[in-house]
Amino acid sequence: MLTRARLALRSPDGARRAADYALAVVLFRLSPDTRRAIFAGDDHECSLCGARLSRFLQLHRPCFRWCPVCRSLQRHRFSWLLLQRQLFSTRLPGDVLHFAPEESLANAFRRLPHIRYATTDLYAPGVTLRADIVRLPHRDAVFDLIYCSHVLEHIPDDRAAMRELRRVLRVGGIAVILTPLWTRPTFEDPGVTDPFERERLFGQHDHVRWYGLDIVERLSGAGFSVCTVRAGDIANAAEIERYGLDAGEIAFLCSAH
Ligand SMILES: [Zn+2]
Repeated sequence: MLTRARLALRSPDGARRAADYALAVVLFRLSPDTRRAIFAGDDHECSLCGARLSRFLQLHRPCFRWCPVCRSLQRHRFSWLLLQRQLFSTRLPGDVLHFAPEESLANAFRRLPHIRYATTDLYAPGVTLRADIVRLPHRDAVFDLIYCSHVLEHIPDDRAAMRELRRVLRVGGIAVILTPLWTRPTFEDPGVTDPFERERLFGQHDHVRWYGLDIVERLSGAGFSVCTVRAGDIANAAEIERYGLDAGEIAFLCSAH
């Protein structure tokens, strides 16, 4: 947190980011019901928590739009719509593994009936199992759905992680994978370890690469069949606006055959 604060203050929009942090600290100390009342409206809706809102919050970075009630970001609301519309509408998964669980999504998963839901992270407290994504302790082929968002860009040996995801997925299962993406080919440099340099080169102090769309080749190399889905593919323009999504946000649906 200290590193994040120092990086924010050193960035070109440091004053704005510092002010956003201060507002978030105050706002998110209020109860969810209070926040729901403050931001109540009809123009927008959170696809995760169902809150009807006057607006989403732009905090931390101008491109981030938070749900003031459940704190979801665009990618979380997109992911949940994607799961609902492309997976859950035909079949609910039995065994689900959620990496680095985001609270808003974890709460939504837990509301699903009849699933066996597990969370994992190398460091975060409160997960079902602390585990390293490149050496998972699970047996082969034990999950129907894996959700792994904004994790692989932190992992030096991401190909090993992808192979582990494939190994623990059942045939017929799906791994939903999201990462930060840029428009160029994947760029990484294992020699860069300084957090300030990582922020400059990779966009965040603890990222080890930028992925391009060629991530599909790495995922395929791990044994997945990969389908690239944009938010604009599953939601129309009115829904993009209502749910506070980015039409170009991408998720990779990785199937095990
Ligand atoms: Zn919400």
